[in-house]
Amino acid sequence: MHSFHYENGSLHCEGVNLDVLANEHGTPLYVYSQATILDHYRRLSAGMSELDCQICYATKANSNLAVLNLLAREGAGFDIVSGGELFRIEKAGGDPGKCTFAGVGKTRAEIELGLEKGIYSFNAESEAEVAFISKVASEMGKVAPIALRVNPNVDAKTHKYISTGKSENKFGIDFSVIREAYERAAALPNIKIRGLQMHIGSQLTSVNPFVEAVEKVAPLVQELKEKYEIEFFSIGGGIGIVYEDTLASGQDHWWGEKEEKPLTIEEYASQLVPLLKPLGLKIILEPGRFMVGNAGVLITEVLYEKRGSAKTFQIIDAAMNDLIRPALYEGHHDIAPLKEPTSDETEEVDIVGPVCESGDFFAQNRALPPLEEGDRIALLSAGAYGFVMASNYNSRPMPAEILVDGDTAHVIRARQSFDDLIQGESIPARAE
Ligand SMILES: *Cc1c(COP(=O)(O)O)cnc(C)c1O
Repeated sequence: MHSFHYENGSLHCEGVNLDVLANEHGTPLYVYSQATILDHYRRLSAGMSELDCQICYATKANSNLAVLNLLAREGAGFDIVSGGELFRIEKAGGDPGKCTFAGVGKTRAEIELGLEKGIYSFNAESEAEVAFISKVASEMGKVAPIALRVNPNVDAKTHKYISTGKSENKFGIDFSVIREAYERAAALPNIKIRGLQMHIGSQLTSVNPFVEAVEKVAPLVQELKEKYEIEFFSIGGGIGIVYEDTLASGQDHWWGEKEEKPLTIEEYASQLVPLLKPLGLKIILEPGRFMVGNAGVLITEVLYEKRGSAKTFQIIDAAMNDLIRPALYEGHHDIAPLKEPTSDETEEVDIVGPVCESGDFFAQNRALPPLEEGDRIALLSAGAYGFVMASNYNSRPMPAEILVDGDTAHVIRARQSFDDLIQGESIPARAE
């Protein structure tokens, strides 16, 4: 369910008119739909209901406290990748006991924090890391629950920067040596082996790589269950979303290209549940993008039109520092004018930001309804890996974030001020 639709000629998020919202809060502006996030969480839970399943939302996809709090109240656990994320989980009312800690480079301070807070599992990505966790736990007189992340060497068929389950990626421990790694981990002091984890990549739009990976790893899971009495098997995140044609159904627009086929939860569940159920373990899922991607938009305003000899540029007030996906991963975002176009006319344009980088674009050679200076547009499907990757590059204050619940819009993060930009900076005192 995507709660963005035209009503009386204006793009709405649930019951809120986005143009009115932009008048009040300015642009660029991130807006999230609470109903969409909840719908995604509940549909995934329902799809997995035959399993003992814990959803550990991948915090890094969108870590605003309000989003985390929303999911915590639904019973979600969290997959975290830093001490800062664990701090956020606690501030948001999440349960550290339902947190799994991922990442190839956990520091001593992060391991200590995880042990103090009693997280559910450190998902370790190398033997060196397990040895270090054992050392820190021993010093603290604690037992560290761990899982190893196996790299199943499966091609996720996604963008190279978000593919993680091939041998050449830095993630996880090679499938060929994982048994020995478990043996050595089990022999270390103050380590409790709790599970096995994998995560093969992000934005997977076919269920096949998931199936291939689970089928490959399932016999290993059985072995580990017998040998170490592991409690859980995490199959990671990676469920892809549609980035094209994402407005509510029945509101198809000509500028949405329609080539993508979504991976539905029905398909994901119907293929994976039969493979996972016989394992008789707690199954952990770590979805990030699926939960929040289609639930958010970035609203921005056209500043200038620039007609070059080769191209027409629409220069907008959002830039790569606000949303870096196009520059970083060649990410596609559909673009919808806030005012519903009244004709089928389109014009081929580049949508670019004001930052001094050629990579600062949101669309190239895109057929869009004609735009004029002062028009506002929404970059759709910007709820995941959007604001969380924002920076102050070019000393641009970060946008505000809004959570819409029905007819109500809550400011869940204030727009940064100029003072915020220089917070913590100082000029060294100099001898005169
Ligand atoms: C990033 C990440 C996820 C979430 O990936 P999505 O594609 O957003 O679902 C899950 N698990 C791990 C270990 C990750 O690094």
